[in-house]
Amino acid sequence: MRTVRTVGEVRAASRDARAAGGRVGFVPTMGYLHDGHYSLVQEARRRDDLVIASIFVNPTQFGPGEDLARYPTDLDGDRAGLQRNGCDVLWLPDAQTLYPPGSSTWVTVEALSAPLCGARRPGHFRGVATVVAKLLAAAEPDDAYFGDKDYQQRKVIERLVEDLCLPVRVVGLPIVREPDGLAMSSRNAYLSPADRAAAPVLRRSLDAARAAFDAGGRDPRALEAVVRRVVATEPRARLDYAEVRDAADLSAVDRCEGPVVLCLAAFVGAARLIDNQVLTP
Ligand code: AMP
Repeated sequence: MRTVRTVGEVRAASRDARAAGGRVGFVPTMGYLHDGHYSLVQEARRRDDLVIASIFVNPTQFGPGEDLARYPTDLDGDRAGLQRNGCDVLWLPDAQTLYPPGSSTWVTVEALSAPLCGARRPGHFRGVATVVAKLLAAAEPDDAYFGDKDYQQRKVIERLVEDLCLPVRVVGLPIVREPDGLAMSSRNAYLSPADRAAAPVLRRSLDAARAAFDAGGRDPRALEAVVRRVVATEPRARLDYAEVRDAADLSAVDRCEGPVVLCLAAFVGAARLIDNQVLTP
């Protein structure tokens, strides 16, 4: 595995692979990698000839008072894991590279960024969309891989790729979980042992809502109430939101007629965690 830092280097690696007739797969991350990230790398390894992963903790997607300054890092561990999972090129851009002095261009994906995490983290998806547009423009991949753990983020990115006519295919992959159901996340590192033991309540709340849905429950407010009730049984967890939305465009729904997604965010100790469940009638 090679490590590159500049736009010129990552683009040259990508163009060389394509000139040789290969496909290029790209996995953007913020590091502190786990098996959720590695599932994306493995899928890229299966589908593409050159696999590029980036690690960049993007400052513009963090709000004031959020965890930018303490976001976990482990570059040695990430390198070893990427190598083990078949990554060819590790791209480590610095902030100057992605936000050169005087930079003043932003990408805003309007409707999809408004609800859910967008409403609680103003500016978050503007930061995400902007950095992903830059990463894709620099690395020029054929395929870019994103996890459904960040469901709204994937929707925002699909929209931006279409709206900006970017020649890349967005590949979405399922949520990878710990054995007890907790969605893998770099932010799980913030959990104390007691908080870690409490956190699977999020998945249990989604399971309970899914059971209600499978039993014919089609009232989105009732499904949200199931999540609230289950999360409330765990004193260490505080729900930020639980909302059922249209799975395709995240619009509000009054009844679950087509596919919907039940998204939640919750504070558990020092961590704000997200999870979701798609429900298809
Ligand atoms: P992050 O490093 O948190 O920005 O995540 C980088 C990519 O990994 C994003 O596309 C995430 O959706 C994806 N990802 C993070 N956690 C998981 C998970 N548990 N399962 C699947 N994909 C994940």
